[in-house]
Amino acid sequence: MKKLMVFLFAALFVVGSMADVIAATQYVTIGTGGVTGVYYPTGGAISKMVNKKRKEYNLRATVESTGGSVFNVNAIMVGDLEFGVVQSDRQYQAFNGTADWEGKPQTKLRAVFSIHPESVTLVAAADANVNSVADLKGKRVNIGNPGSGQRGNALDLLAAAGINYETDLKAEGIKAAESAGMLQDERIDAFFYTVGHPNGSVKEAVAGARKVNFVPIDKAIVDKLVAQFPYYAPSVIPVAMYPGVANKADVASFGVKATFVTSADVSDDIVYAITKEVFENFDDFKKLHPAYSTLSKASMLQGMSAPIHPGAMKYYKEAGLK
Ligand code: GLU
Repeated sequence: MKKLMVFLFAALFVVGSMADVIAATQYVTIGTGGVTGVYYPTGGAISKMVNKKRKEYNLRATVESTGGSVFNVNAIMVGDLEFGVVQSDRQYQAFNGTADWEGKPQTKLRAVFSIHPESVTLVAAADANVNSVADLKGKRVNIGNPGSGQRGNALDLLAAAGINYETDLKAEGIKAAESAGMLQDERIDAFFYTVGHPNGSVKEAVAGARKVNFVPIDKAIVDKLVAQFPYYAPSVIPVAMYPGVANKADVASFGVKATFVTSADVSDDIVYAITKEVFENFDDFKKLHPAYSTLSKASMLQGMSAPIHPGAMKYYKEAGLK
């Protein structure tokens, strides 16, 4: 009888600790964008950093391809995703309740860090003769799917150029990953993509048989947008990254930053662990994508408009970064 009791206690103990171990591993998902953009490999780079230490943190991060910034904010807010890569303008709009979130501020949105710069990139077929935004009139243009970041940038730019996207052009709302193929198949004349450079989508677009050019954005229009919106800044698209493109010189545009966000409902421990692993392994992280070439720890703390999550802030204070 005594032996049986000891055995039962031992068995209960084993089962109990196994349950503890299982319960202690926490899974988080990072929302990104199309697989040929920069967000998807960025989610991969962040998860790689934290998953190296998964035994220490009992944390496992996975990456999901999504429709982009707007989708990511909304999925984080309803708890379908814990983290997401989101354009800085979308972070601002969501937290302050403007644009797609007009009158509905997403007060639980939290910033973790900023990542690479993104340029509003207008890619056109050379045979469509689009050399300025005004030349888009009458053309078939992919302005981006509603869940994307670029759609809002395309709409802002078209409005600033005095183009009505509903009547002056044939607007498509298709995901960025399909743009290059559609341009090469002559199903569209141009597409918008707000993205870091270099990236797979734009490489795919310039590598086809149909010759392609990047459309420069007039300085007057960029100045107008920068004056109107706090989150826009002038930018330049480096043509050397895209052998085969028709442009001979770098192309003027405007842009935002990719940022990493979460919800106030995600625990401090999880956000701390991810922030710490990315910053403590900064040199390794920076090597993971050529679009990170201009990153510095200081630049990663700029461009956030939602409050910094307390888990991230704990690390920044410890590291003397804040
Ligand atoms: N900026 C795009 C968006 O917010 C995604 C770009 C990318 O996937 O690299 O939808």
